[in-house]
Amino acid sequence: MSQKPFGFRVTHSDHAARRGTIETPHGDVQTPAFMPVGTRGALKAVTHRDVMDVGAEIVLANAYHLHLRPGDELIARAGGLHAFIGWPRPILTDSGGYQVFSLAARRKITEAGVEFRSHIDGALSALSPETATDIQARLGSDIAMVLDECIGNENRGSRVEDRSSSPANFGPRTSNLGTRSAMERSVRWAKRARTRMLQLRQDPSSAAGVAVTNPGQAQFGIIQGGTDPGLRTESVQATVEIGFEAYAIGGLSVGEPPAVMYDIVARTAPQLPADRPRYLMGTGMPDDLIECVARGVDLFDCVLPTRNARNGQLLTQHGVIVIKNARYAEDPRPPDPACGCYTCRSFSLAYLRHLYASQEMTAATLLSVHNLYFYLDLMRRIRDAIGFGSFEKLRHEFHQTFSRRQCST
Ligand SMILES: [Zn+2]
Repeated sequence: MSQKPFGFRVTHSDHAARRGTIETPHGDVQTPAFMPVGTRGALKAVTHRDVMDVGAEIVLANAYHLHLRPGDELIARAGGLHAFIGWPRPILTDSGGYQVFSLAARRKITEAGVEFRSHIDGALSALSPETATDIQARLGSDIAMVLDECIGNENRGSRVEDRSSSPANFGPRTSNLGTRSAMERSVRWAKRARTRMLQLRQDPSSAAGVAVTNPGQAQFGIIQGGTDPGLRTESVQATVEIGFEAYAIGGLSVGEPPAVMYDIVARTAPQLPADRPRYLMGTGMPDDLIECVARGVDLFDCVLPTRNARNGQLLTQHGVIVIKNARYAEDPRPPDPACGCYTCRSFSLAYLRHLYASQEMTAATLLSVHNLYFYLDLMRRIRDAIGFGSFEKLRHEFHQTFSRRQCST
Protein backbone atom coordinates (compact mmCIF):
# COMPACT_ATOMS: atom_id res chain seq x y z
CA MET A 1 0.00 0.00 0.00
CA SER A 2 1.30 3.40 -0.90
CA GLN A 3 1.65 5.86 1.92
CA LYS A 4 0.42 8.85 0.02
CA PRO A 5 -0.84 11.22 2.69
CA PHE A 6 -4.25 12.83 2.70
CA GLY A 7 -4.47 15.90 0.49
CA PHE A 8 -6.92 18.17 -1.26
CA ARG A 9 -6.52 20.43 -4.27
CA VAL A 10 -9.15 22.79 -5.64
CA THR A 11 -8.65 22.97 -9.41
CA HIS A 12 -11.64 25.07 -10.47
CA SER A 13 -14.12 27.39 -8.79
CA ASP A 14 -17.42 28.70 -10.12
CA HIS A 15 -18.86 31.16 -7.61
CA ALA A 16 -18.94 29.13 -4.36
CA ALA A 17 -18.90 25.75 -6.18
CA ARG A 18 -15.53 23.98 -6.23
CA ARG A 19 -14.06 21.21 -8.32
CA GLY A 20 -11.10 19.40 -6.84
CA THR A 21 -9.31 16.19 -5.94
CA ILE A 22 -9.02 14.48 -2.55
CA GLU A 23 -5.90 12.32 -2.30
CA THR A 24 -5.98 9.30 0.01
CA PRO A 25 -3.77 6.25 0.60
CA HIS A 26 -6.16 4.23 -1.61
CA GLY A 27 -6.42 6.65 -4.49
CA ASP A 28 -7.92 9.94 -5.54
CA VAL A 29 -11.51 11.12 -5.29
CA GLN A 30 -12.77 13.71 -7.77
CA THR A 31 -14.96 16.28 -6.03
CA PRO A 32 -17.74 17.20 -5.65
CA ALA A 33 -18.29 13.51 -4.88
CA PHE A 34 -21.15 11.34 -3.69
CA MET A 35 -20.35 8.39 -1.41
CA PRO A 36 -22.73 5.41 -1.62
CA VAL A 37 -23.37 3.86 1.80
CA GLY A 38 -22.13 0.31 2.44
CA THR A 39 -23.34 -0.08 6.00
CA ARG A 40 -21.83 -3.47 6.82
CA GLY A 41 -19.01 -3.35 4.30
CA ALA A 42 -21.36 -3.94 1.37
CA LEU A 43 -23.87 -1.86 -0.53
CA LYS A 44 -27.19 -3.65 -0.25
CA ALA A 45 -28.16 -5.69 -3.34
CA VAL A 46 -25.16 -4.73 -5.49
CA THR A 47 -21.61 -6.04 -5.83
CA HIS A 48 -18.44 -3.94 -5.60
CA ARG A 49 -18.14 -4.45 -9.37
CA ASP A 50 -21.51 -2.72 -9.85
CA VAL A 51 -20.37 0.10 -7.56
CA MET A 52 -17.19 0.55 -9.62
CA ASP A 53 -19.15 0.40 -12.88
CA VAL A 54 -21.37 3.31 -11.86
CA GLY A 55 -18.21 5.29 -11.12
CA ALA A 56 -18.07 5.48 -7.31
CA GLU A 57 -14.58 6.42 -6.19
CA ILE A 58 -15.28 6.25 -2.46
CA VAL A 59 -17.83 4.46 -0.27
CA LEU A 60 -18.95 4.95 3.32
CA ALA A 61 -19.01 2.13 5.86
CA ASN A 62 -20.57 2.24 9.33
CA ALA A 63 -18.16 1.74 12.22
CA TYR A 64 -21.00 0.89 14.65
CA HIS A 65 -22.23 -2.07 12.60
CA LEU A 66 -18.74 -3.39 11.85
CA HIS A 67 -17.67 -2.97 15.48
CA LEU A 68 -20.60 -5.10 16.68
CA ARG A 69 -20.32 -7.62 13.85
CA PRO A 70 -17.88 -9.07 12.83
CA GLY A 71 -15.75 -6.84 15.11
CA ASP A 72 -13.03 -4.33 14.30
CA GLU A 73 -10.34 -6.51 15.86
CA LEU A 74 -11.25 -9.37 13.52
CA ILE A 75 -11.15 -6.95 10.57
CA ALA A 76 -7.73 -5.64 11.70
CA ARG A 77 -6.42 -9.22 11.82
CA ALA A 78 -7.66 -9.65 8.23
CA GLY A 79 -5.51 -6.67 7.24
CA GLY A 80 -8.08 -3.89 7.58
CA LEU A 81 -11.38 -3.09 5.96
CA HIS A 82 -10.13 -2.70 2.36
CA ALA A 83 -8.57 -6.17 2.43
CA PHE A 84 -11.44 -7.76 4.35
CA ILE A 85 -14.20 -6.56 2.00
CA GLY A 86 -12.12 -6.58 -1.20
CA TRP A 87 -12.69 -2.90 -2.05
CA PRO A 88 -9.42 -1.29 -3.15
CA ARG A 89 -10.64 2.31 -3.43
CA PRO A 90 -11.05 4.92 -0.67
CA ILE A 91 -13.40 4.31 2.27
CA LEU A 92 -14.82 6.77 4.80
CA THR A 93 -16.09 5.42 8.10
CA ASP A 94 -18.51 7.25 10.32
CA SER A 95 -17.74 7.25 14.04
CA GLY A 96 -20.65 5.01 15.01
CA GLY A 97 -22.24 7.82 16.97
CA TYR A 98 -25.14 8.31 14.60
CA GLN A 99 -26.15 4.64 14.84
CA VAL A 100 -25.80 4.62 18.61
CA PHE A 101 -28.12 7.59 18.79
CA SER A 102 -30.60 6.20 16.24
CA LEU A 103 -30.50 2.39 16.58
CA ALA A 104 -29.16 1.28 19.93
CA ALA A 105 -31.44 0.74 22.86
CA ARG A 106 -31.12 2.29 26.31
CA ARG A 107 -28.47 4.89 25.59
CA LYS A 108 -26.78 6.65 28.46
CA ILE A 109 -24.76 9.71 27.54
CA THR A 110 -22.13 11.02 29.93
CA GLU A 111 -19.11 13.24 29.47
CA ALA A 112 -17.02 10.08 29.12
CA GLY A 113 -19.01 8.83 26.15
CA VAL A 114 -22.15 6.85 25.44
CA GLU A 115 -23.21 3.49 26.84
CA PHE A 116 -25.77 1.50 24.91
CA ARG A 117 -27.18 -1.92 24.23
CA SER A 118 -26.53 -3.53 20.85
CA HIS A 119 -29.55 -3.55 18.54
CA ILE A 120 -28.48 -7.08 17.51
CA ASP A 121 -28.29 -8.97 20.80
CA GLY A 122 -28.79 -6.43 23.57
CA ALA A 123 -25.19 -6.75 24.77
CA LEU A 124 -23.90 -3.77 26.74
CA SER A 125 -21.37 -1.73 24.83
CA ALA A 126 -19.80 1.71 25.03
CA LEU A 127 -18.33 4.27 22.72
CA SER A 128 -16.07 7.15 23.71
CA PRO A 129 -14.19 9.68 21.58
CA GLU A 130 -11.09 7.54 22.12
CA THR A 131 -12.62 4.11 21.41
CA ALA A 132 -14.45 5.44 18.32
CA THR A 133 -11.03 6.59 17.06
CA ASP A 134 -9.46 3.21 17.91
CA ILE A 135 -12.23 1.26 16.14
CA GLN A 136 -11.71 3.26 12.95
CA ALA A 137 -7.91 2.92 13.25
CA ARG A 138 -8.36 -0.87 13.28
CA LEU A 139 -10.76 -0.69 10.33
CA GLY A 140 -8.18 1.40 8.48
CA SER A 141 -10.56 3.58 6.51
CA ASP A 142 -8.98 6.46 4.59
CA ILE A 143 -11.16 8.99 6.36
CA ALA A 144 -12.28 8.60 9.99
CA MET A 145 -14.92 10.75 11.67
CA VAL A 146 -14.89 12.02 15.25
CA LEU A 147 -17.59 10.92 17.69
CA ASP A 148 -20.15 13.69 18.10
CA GLU A 149 -23.28 14.01 20.17
CA CYS A 150 -26.23 13.69 17.83
CA ILE A 151 -29.38 15.55 18.77
CA GLY A 152 -32.89 15.49 17.38
CA ASN A 153 -32.47 11.77 16.81
CA GLU A 154 -36.24 11.16 16.91
CA ASN A 155 -36.02 12.60 13.43
CA ARG A 156 -32.63 11.20 12.54
CA GLY A 157 -33.75 7.61 12.81
CA SER A 158 -36.21 8.10 10.01
CA ARG A 159 -34.54 10.95 8.23
CA VAL A 160 -34.60 9.44 4.78
CA GLU A 161 -37.87 7.51 4.60
CA ASP A 162 -39.80 10.48 5.89
CA ARG A 163 -37.86 13.03 3.95
CA SER A 164 -40.64 14.11 1.61
CA SER A 165 -43.24 14.44 4.33
CA SER A 166 -40.92 15.58 7.05
CA PRO A 167 -41.29 19.36 6.98
CA ALA A 168 -44.65 18.91 8.68
CA ASN A 169 -42.93 16.97 11.43
CA PHE A 170 -40.14 19.45 11.79
CA GLY A 171 -40.12 21.26 15.04
CA PRO A 172 -37.97 22.23 17.96
CA ARG A 173 -37.44 18.68 19.26
CA THR A 174 -34.43 19.94 21.11
CA SER A 175 -34.26 23.23 22.92
CA ASN A 176 -31.61 25.73 21.99
CA LEU A 177 -30.05 24.91 25.35
CA GLY A 178 -29.90 21.24 24.34
CA THR A 179 -28.40 22.15 20.97
CA ARG A 180 -25.76 24.31 22.66
CA SER A 181 -24.83 21.68 25.21
CA ALA A 182 -24.56 18.97 22.51
CA MET A 183 -22.46 21.28 20.33
CA GLU A 184 -20.13 22.13 23.22
CA ARG A 185 -19.80 18.49 24.25
CA SER A 186 -19.09 17.55 20.62
CA VAL A 187 -16.22 20.06 20.63
CA ARG A 188 -14.79 18.56 23.86
CA TRP A 189 -15.16 15.07 22.37
CA ALA A 190 -13.52 16.23 19.11
CA LYS A 191 -10.48 17.44 21.06
CA ARG A 192 -10.17 14.05 22.79
CA ALA A 193 -10.62 12.19 19.50
CA ARG A 194 -7.88 14.31 17.91
CA THR A 195 -5.52 13.77 20.83
CA ARG A 196 -6.07 10.01 20.52
CA MET A 197 -5.54 10.11 16.74
CA LEU A 198 -2.26 12.02 17.09
CA GLN A 199 -1.14 9.55 19.76
CA LEU A 200 -1.86 6.62 17.42
CA ARG A 201 0.01 8.36 14.59
CA GLN A 202 3.07 9.41 16.54
CA ASP A 203 3.58 6.35 18.67
CA PRO A 204 1.39 3.41 17.70
CA SER A 205 3.09 1.22 20.30
CA SER A 206 1.79 3.44 23.09
CA ALA A 207 -1.78 2.41 22.33
CA ALA A 208 -1.86 -1.21 23.39
CA GLY A 209 -4.37 -3.29 21.52
CA VAL A 210 -4.87 -0.94 18.62
CA ALA A 211 -3.54 -2.39 15.38
CA VAL A 212 -3.43 0.63 13.06
CA THR A 213 -4.11 -0.83 9.60
CA ASN A 214 -3.90 2.40 7.57
CA PRO A 215 -1.22 4.80 8.86
CA GLY A 216 -2.31 7.39 6.27
CA GLN A 217 -5.83 7.65 7.71
CA ALA A 218 -7.23 11.20 7.89
CA GLN A 219 -9.62 12.42 10.57
CA PHE A 220 -12.47 14.87 9.99
CA GLY A 221 -14.04 17.08 12.64
CA ILE A 222 -17.80 17.67 12.64
CA ILE A 223 -19.56 21.03 12.92
CA GLN A 224 -22.74 20.94 15.03
CA GLY A 225 -25.13 23.62 16.25
CA GLY A 226 -28.47 22.60 14.75
CA THR A 227 -30.22 25.35 12.82
CA ASP A 228 -28.78 28.18 14.92
CA PRO A 229 -26.25 30.15 12.83
CA GLY A 230 -24.56 31.55 15.94
CA LEU A 231 -23.98 28.09 17.42
CA ARG A 232 -22.70 26.89 14.02
CA THR A 233 -20.15 29.72 13.96
CA GLU A 234 -18.99 28.90 17.49
CA SER A 235 -18.70 25.23 16.51
CA VAL A 236 -16.65 26.10 13.40
CA GLN A 237 -14.25 28.27 15.38
CA ALA A 238 -13.70 25.73 18.15
CA THR A 239 -13.43 22.72 15.82
CA VAL A 240 -11.08 24.40 13.33
CA GLU A 241 -8.92 25.50 16.26
CA ILE A 242 -8.45 21.83 17.24
CA GLY A 243 -7.25 21.19 13.68
CA PHE A 244 -8.39 18.31 11.46
CA GLU A 245 -7.55 17.21 7.92
CA ALA A 246 -11.04 18.41 6.96
CA TYR A 247 -14.46 19.27 8.34
CA ALA A 248 -17.99 17.94 8.04
CA ILE A 249 -21.29 19.70 8.57
CA GLY A 250 -23.35 17.36 10.75
CA GLY A 251 -26.80 17.51 12.26
CA LEU A 252 -28.64 18.52 9.09
CA SER A 253 -31.03 16.45 6.92
CA VAL A 254 -32.81 15.54 10.15
CA GLY A 255 -36.22 16.66 8.99
CA GLU A 256 -35.78 20.41 8.63
CA PRO A 257 -37.17 21.97 5.42
CA PRO A 258 -34.63 22.12 2.56
CA ALA A 259 -34.57 25.93 2.66
CA VAL A 260 -33.43 25.82 6.31
CA MET A 261 -30.70 23.31 5.49
CA TYR A 262 -29.53 25.35 2.47
CA ASP A 263 -29.36 28.47 4.61
CA ILE A 264 -27.26 26.81 7.33
CA VAL A 265 -24.94 25.30 4.69
CA ALA A 266 -24.61 28.68 2.95
CA ARG A 267 -23.61 30.31 6.25
CA THR A 268 -21.37 27.50 7.53
CA ALA A 269 -19.40 26.31 4.48
CA PRO A 270 -17.62 29.63 3.76
CA GLN A 271 -16.37 29.77 7.36
CA LEU A 272 -14.54 26.46 6.91
CA PRO A 273 -10.93 26.49 5.62
CA ALA A 274 -10.98 26.90 1.81
CA ASP A 275 -8.07 24.50 1.38
CA ARG A 276 -9.88 21.58 3.04
CA PRO A 277 -12.78 19.50 1.68
CA ARG A 278 -16.23 20.15 3.17
CA TYR A 279 -18.47 17.16 3.79
CA LEU A 280 -22.22 17.48 4.28
CA MET A 281 -23.31 14.36 6.18
CA GLY A 282 -26.35 12.30 5.27
CA THR A 283 -27.70 14.40 2.37
CA GLY A 284 -29.80 13.93 0.31
CA MET A 285 -32.11 14.27 -2.68
CA PRO A 286 -30.49 15.07 -6.07
CA ASP A 287 -31.58 18.72 -5.90
CA ASP A 288 -30.05 18.96 -2.40
CA LEU A 289 -26.71 17.87 -3.87
CA ILE A 290 -26.72 20.51 -6.60
CA GLU A 291 -27.86 23.25 -4.20
CA CYS A 292 -25.24 22.39 -1.59
CA VAL A 293 -22.46 22.17 -4.22
CA ALA A 294 -23.56 25.71 -5.12
CA ARG A 295 -22.91 26.63 -1.48
CA GLY A 296 -19.40 25.17 -1.38
CA VAL A 297 -19.82 21.52 -0.33
CA ASP A 298 -17.41 18.91 -1.78
CA LEU A 299 -18.53 15.57 -0.34
CA PHE A 300 -21.88 13.88 0.29
CA ASP A 301 -23.27 10.55 1.45
CA CYS A 302 -26.80 9.19 1.65
CA VAL A 303 -28.61 5.85 1.76
CA LEU A 304 -31.37 7.31 -0.38
CA PRO A 305 -30.47 5.89 -3.84
CA THR A 306 -30.09 2.32 -2.58
CA ARG A 307 -32.91 2.43 0.00
CA ASN A 308 -35.38 3.94 -2.46
CA ALA A 309 -34.43 1.30 -5.03
CA ARG A 310 -35.27 -1.48 -2.58
CA ASN A 311 -38.61 0.24 -2.01
CA GLY A 312 -39.31 0.14 -5.75
CA GLN A 313 -38.50 3.77 -6.53
CA LEU A 314 -36.35 4.88 -9.45
CA LEU A 315 -35.03 8.44 -9.35
CA THR A 316 -34.83 10.11 -12.73
CA GLN A 317 -34.30 13.55 -14.17
CA HIS A 318 -38.07 13.93 -14.57
CA GLY A 319 -39.27 12.57 -11.24
CA VAL A 320 -39.72 9.36 -9.30
CA ILE A 321 -40.85 6.14 -11.00
CA VAL A 322 -42.83 3.92 -8.62
CA ILE A 323 -42.19 0.65 -10.37
CA LYS A 324 -45.13 -1.28 -8.91
CA ASN A 325 -47.52 1.12 -10.62
CA ALA A 326 -49.92 -0.78 -12.92
CA ARG A 327 -49.32 1.69 -15.74
CA TYR A 328 -45.89 0.09 -16.34
CA ALA A 329 -47.24 -3.47 -16.75
CA GLU A 330 -46.76 -3.46 -20.52
CA ASP A 331 -44.44 -0.48 -20.93
CA PRO A 332 -41.56 -1.45 -23.24
CA ARG A 333 -39.54 1.71 -22.53
CA PRO A 334 -36.47 1.81 -20.29
CA PRO A 335 -36.89 3.77 -17.02
CA ASP A 336 -34.95 6.71 -18.49
CA PRO A 337 -34.08 6.66 -22.22
CA ALA A 338 -31.32 9.22 -21.59
CA CYS A 339 -29.65 7.14 -18.83
CA GLY A 340 -26.51 5.16 -19.67
CA CYS A 341 -26.77 2.64 -16.83
CA TYR A 342 -26.86 -1.13 -17.36
CA THR A 343 -30.50 -1.31 -16.26
CA CYS A 344 -31.75 1.39 -18.64
CA ARG A 345 -29.66 0.05 -21.53
CA SER A 346 -31.01 -3.49 -21.04
CA PHE A 347 -34.49 -3.68 -19.55
CA SER A 348 -38.03 -2.41 -19.93
CA LEU A 349 -40.22 -0.91 -17.25
CA ALA A 350 -42.56 -3.88 -17.76
CA TYR A 351 -39.82 -6.40 -16.92
CA LEU A 352 -38.57 -4.41 -13.92
CA ARG A 353 -42.14 -4.13 -12.63
CA HIS A 354 -42.56 -7.90 -13.02
CA LEU A 355 -39.34 -8.58 -11.10
CA TYR A 356 -40.37 -6.22 -8.29
CA ALA A 357 -43.91 -7.60 -8.10
CA SER A 358 -42.52 -11.16 -8.01
CA GLN A 359 -40.12 -10.17 -5.23
CA GLU A 360 -37.15 -11.31 -7.30
CA MET A 361 -33.91 -10.20 -5.63
CA THR A 362 -32.68 -8.97 -9.01
CA ALA A 363 -35.25 -6.17 -8.83
CA ALA A 364 -33.38 -4.58 -5.92
CA THR A 365 -30.08 -4.98 -7.81
CA LEU A 366 -31.27 -3.46 -11.08
CA LEU A 367 -33.11 -0.58 -9.43
CA SER A 368 -30.10 0.15 -7.18
CA VAL A 369 -27.75 0.16 -10.19
CA HIS A 370 -29.92 2.78 -11.88
CA ASN A 371 -30.28 5.02 -8.82
CA LEU A 372 -26.57 4.88 -8.03
CA TYR A 373 -25.72 5.66 -11.66
CA PHE A 374 -28.13 8.59 -11.59
CA TYR A 375 -26.40 10.04 -8.52
CA LEU A 376 -22.85 9.39 -9.70
CA ASP A 377 -23.62 10.69 -13.20
CA LEU A 378 -25.10 13.87 -11.71
CA MET A 379 -21.88 14.41 -9.76
CA ARG A 380 -19.85 13.89 -12.98
CA ARG A 381 -21.98 16.48 -14.76
CA ILE A 382 -21.57 18.87 -11.84
CA ARG A 383 -17.77 18.46 -11.90
CA ASP A 384 -17.59 18.96 -15.66
CA ALA A 385 -19.78 22.06 -15.46
CA ILE A 386 -17.64 23.61 -12.70
CA GLY A 387 -14.57 22.86 -14.83
CA PHE A 388 -16.11 24.62 -17.81
CA GLY A 389 -17.47 27.51 -15.77
CA SER A 390 -21.04 26.53 -16.66
CA PHE A 391 -22.26 25.28 -13.26
CA GLU A 392 -24.96 27.95 -12.93
CA LYS A 393 -26.33 26.91 -16.33
CA LEU A 394 -26.42 23.24 -15.28
CA ARG A 395 -28.07 24.19 -11.99
CA HIS A 396 -30.76 26.17 -13.80
CA GLU A 397 -31.39 23.41 -16.37
CA PHE A 398 -31.51 20.75 -13.67
CA HIS A 399 -34.28 22.55 -11.80
CA GLN A 400 -36.20 23.01 -15.06
CA THR A 401 -36.66 19.24 -15.40
CA PHE A 402 -36.09 17.63 -11.99
CA SER A 403 -39.03 16.83 -9.75
CA ARG A 404 -39.28 15.02 -6.40
CA ARG A 405 -42.79 13.97 -7.35
CA GLN A 406 -43.94 10.82 -9.07
CA CYS A 407 -43.55 10.79 -12.87
CA SER A 408 -46.85 11.44 -14.58
CA THR A 409 -46.06 9.62 -17.81
ZN1 LIG B 1 -30.59 4.04 -15.64
